[in-house]
This record gives sequence, structure tokens and C-alpha cells, in this order.
Amino acid sequence: MRKQIVAGNWKMNNDLVETKTLITELKNAKKTSNAEVMIAPSFTNLWTAFESLKEYSVEVIAQNMHFAESGAYTGEISASMLSSIGIKTVILGHSERRAYFNETDELLAKKVDAALKNEMRTIFCFGEELSDRKSGNHETIVENQIKNALFHLDATAFKHIVLAYEPVWAIGTGETASPEQAQEMHAFIRKTLADTYGQELADSVSILYGGSVKASNAQEIFSKPDVDGGLIGGAALKADDFMAIVNAF
Ligand code: PGA
Repeated sequence: MRKQIVAGNWKMNNDLVETKTLITELKNAKKTSNAEVMIAPSFTNLWTAFESLKEYSVEVIAQNMHFAESGAYTGEISASMLSSIGIKTVILGHSERRAYFNETDELLAKKVDAALKNEMRTIFCFGEELSDRKSGNHETIVENQIKNALFHLDATAFKHIVLAYEPVWAIGTGETASPEQAQEMHAFIRKTLADTYGQELADSVSILYGGSVKASNAQEIFSKPDVDGGLIGGAALKADDFMAIVNAF
């Protein structure tokens, strides 16, 4: 069985006090589903979050990292730094990193390699823009993003990869892909994996959907056979909303 995962991407939100408050609320919330739960606070709050959630089944993960081990990269954070404080998972390739920080598939391939080298799991994000969908190019765009950043890996590496399909037009816009659009793309992604790595591997990789997932639409999206969970932005900033999404499984 594939893992079901609900991950909250806090983006550049929550200072130290807000981080502590939200974590306390999450600890007090009731979890009724078996989904794996993750939160991704900012770098400055990772250690506090990690320490305070050590005994809880909420994994603290990073939003980004650099590909180099160490060195003259002012302002950057390496995989080994994250590992050294207990972080085992990193989000890579988020559309905001691609759009505002010029992250390309080639760069992301290096970051994925660095994560693997440090025995970290990657939540690899990708997705088409509205113009791609309008012109009917969405599958080609997504296929290329996945192939360029991941298909140099050998099959065993995919144990450490989670995919997150996030159509750019649905992120932070209130507009969600319909459950049918999500399912259609997720099935296509799984087929793309199967064509290169075989059906068994394709069936073992969790594929999350991200883009305006909320308490009110999570259940229907998660009910689709190829949707294995969600990467949640805005709705991850309130404990009630986030836990309602977690419990939608
Ligand atoms: P959103 O963000 O839920 O606010 O649309 C999702 C994401 O960026 O991962």
C-alpha cells in the first residue's frame, strides 16, 4: 500500500511565537486518520518545531535546501545541516522556488541527488501554468519536469521520493483542480513512471495533490484512486483547517 501523506507548507509565514502556538494547537488536535502528517516551517523555526514534536507523529520537514554539501554559498542551507538537526524530508521544486528563484529542472536534479546522498526523502513538486493547460500542453510540461529532474535516478531511489502535483494556477488562488482533473493527471504521472521503471515501482510512489486544498474539498480529492494525499499551503496555517484536511482520509 502507498503511504497517504498530508504535508503543510507554511511558506514564509509564522515567526517563533506563532510557530510555537500553531504547534501547540496541532498537538492538541485529534487525529482520526492514518495519514502521515508533516509540517514545513521556516528554516529559523525548524529546530524548535523538531524539538517540540519529537514525541508526536508529526514530521517536521524543510521547504528547500541547497545542492552543495558546504562552502561559499551565502545565505544557503545544506542537506547535511538539515540532517544534523533531525530533518529527514525536504520539499524541492515548489513552483514559487521555480518562479521567483529561477530553479530549473537541472538545478533540481542536483538538489534531489544531494538529498538522496544525505538519506533524506524529497517531496518533489511540479505542475503546469494556466497557459499550458489552456493550450493542452499540461501533460507534456509535467512529463518533462519529472523526467528532467528525476529520471536519472535508479529505481531504488524512488523509495525516497514523494511526488507533488501542484498546478500553478491553483496555488494560493482559491481555484482547485477538480477531483477529476487531479485524478487524470495523477494517473498520467503514474503511467509516466511505469513506462520507465515498471508498474510495481509506479504503484509504490505516493503522489500528492497541491493547490487550494481545503477542509471542504479535501475528502473528494483524496478519494481519487491515484491521489495519495495533499501538500497544503494556506489551509495549513490554521490548526483546525489543517487537521480537518488530515482527517479527510
Ligand atoms: P495553497 O498552496 O494550498 O495555498 O494553494 C499549496 C502549495 O503551494 O503547496
